Amino acid sequence: MIIVMKPGSGKEQVQHVVKLVREYGLKDHVIQGTDRTVIACIGDKRGIDKGAIENAPMVEKIVPILAPYKIASLEVKKEKSQIAIGPQAFPMGGKKIGVIAGPCSVENRHQLIETAKAVKDAGCIGIRGGAFKPRTSPYSFQGLGKEGLEILAEAREVTGLAVVTEVVAVDQVLLVSQYSDVLQIGARNMQHYPLLEAVGKTSRPVLLKRGMSATLEELLLAAEYIINAGNKNVILCERGIRTFENYVRNTLPLAAVAELQTMTHLPVVVDPSHGTGHSHLVPPMCLAGVAAGADGLLIECHLDPEHAASDGAQSITPTTLQDLMKRLKRISEAVNRDI
Ligand code: PEP
Ligand code: MN
Repeated sequence: MIIVMKPGSGKEQVQHVVKLVREYGLKDHVIQGTDRTVIACIGDKRGIDKGAIENAPMVEKIVPILAPYKIASLEVKKEKSQIAIGPQAFPMGGKKIGVIAGPCSVENRHQLIETAKAVKDAGCIGIRGGAFKPRTSPYSFQGLGKEGLEILAEAREVTGLAVVTEVVAVDQVLLVSQYSDVLQIGARNMQHYPLLEAVGKTSRPVLLKRGMSATLEELLLAAEYIINAGNKNVILCERGIRTFENYVRNTLPLAAVAELQTMTHLPVVVDPSHGTGHSHLVPPMCLAGVAAGADGLLIECHLDPEHAASDGAQSITPTTLQDLMKRLKRISEAVNRDI
């Protein structure tokens, strides 16, 4: 990092900052400009609260040079990570786009198994569905719990699809990882650090959703909690953020997808269902997501959206999914990918 001193700072103030820098175990290199002095600091600054140095007299600002995230960064690993998911070990992050689709919640056996068959027929690689649901209202459907997990496992048996389902609490991690191929961490839990560490202690790939008010840097730091706990199989998911805009449920910033591809080697998936909240916006945002560089998609698909227990408004039908997959093939080819 670089410490920029205010114009007019004297020798004494510069020396004071140099002393501080050394106390923190860093090396200093003082550069005297014509009207400003800057102090370049060399060493590992990860554990240092830069705000503390910013508090010293005549310090104007601190400019970090390296990103605070390390292991997730492209600076550390140049080649993209490919994460094998499901019984077929589909390589998420490879040339092929991995599409995961299914209902918001597992509602019953018939619904999930029939959806899984349709999702498989459409050419997807994974079935999604919440058994434990993090609902905004405590009065909304909370999911089938363990029964939902058993149904998901049966869907994998029948179709060979990878199962993606959410884990909302630390004490569920073991149970959910016995049934699921991918552990989803929802937007509301992106900064639930004990949960991140708990899934980091398993060997299951983790789909980490961006918090609705989280920056990309915070998303990558959250990913590092999982990686530091021992699990490097993290897939990031852009699912939209909260803005003032109200024609959508969330605003889906697809530039974030392209930007993440310049920041990290981890695969990036787009969830256009939560990202828009409206089924008619899902197909165009899927196409745009792939065009922007997504490695995969997470789509809510329901046999009968009008009667869905949750997120019916943003669920597409299997027929729409079939048609969408054909269109996605053409977009994938245009960006040198496959599906
Ligand atoms: C979900 O995938 O159904 C879900 C609850 O998503 P999010 O955490 O992105 O709101
Ligand atoms: Mn949902």
